[in-house]
Amino acid sequence: MAKGILERLAEGPVLGDGGYLLELEKRGYVQAGPFTPEVVIEHPDALAQLHREFLRAGADIVGVNCLNGPVQQLPIAVEMVEAVGRAVPIAAQPVAYATTDDRPDFTGSPDFPYGLSSMTLARGDLAAFAADARDMGVRYIGSCCGSVAEHVRAMAKVLEKRPAQEREWRSQTGKAMSAYEYYDHVETEV
Ligand SMILES: [Zn+2]
Repeated sequence: MAKGILERLAEGPVLGDGGYLLELEKRGYVQAGPFTPEVVIEHPDALAQLHREFLRAGADIVGVNCLNGPVQQLPIAVEMVEAVGRAVPIAAQPVAYATTDDRPDFTGSPDFPYGLSSMTLARGDLAAFAADARDMGVRYIGSCCGSVAEHVRAMAKVLEKRPAQEREWRSQTGKAMSAYEYYDHVETEV
C-alpha cells in the first residue's frame, strides 16, 4: 500500500512538484500577460503531461495551489486524483477568496490587491471545501492567500483535527455565563 504523507514526512523530506504556469507559457499553452489558468480548461493533457514529468523527476506529491478559490480549484484537484489514482497524494490549497468561473484567478480581480476583504470567504466555506476534498480523495488539504487562522481552524475541525485547547463547554450552574449560552447557540457553526 502506498505510504501516507505523515509516514513519508517521518522518514525524511517530501518533495513537492514544480510550477506549471511559467513552464506552460514557455511551451505555448498559457498566454503571457493575463496568466490565467486557461490551460486547465483548454489543454488539460499538457498539464497532465507536465505533472507526469514532475513525478518521473522524483516528486512525491503533486497538486494545485493558490490563485483559485475552492469552487474553481477542487474540480481540478479531483481530475488529478482520477488521473493518478491512489498512487500519488494530490494536494489542493486554494485561496480564501471568492473567485468565479469567469474570473477564476483572484489576482485578476479589480479588487486585487487592496480591496480583497469583500471577497474573503467565510471560515465555513473553507471547511466545506476541506470536507469535499477529503471525500473526493484529495490527501493533502490546505489553503493559500487570504487564509488565516480562522479558516485553518475550521478546516481542522471538519477534518476532525480539533485543536487540543478547545473542548466542549457548558456552564455547570444552569445559568448562562455568556451570550453563546444565553441565546442557546450550539456548536453547529465551524
Ligand atoms: Zn497564494
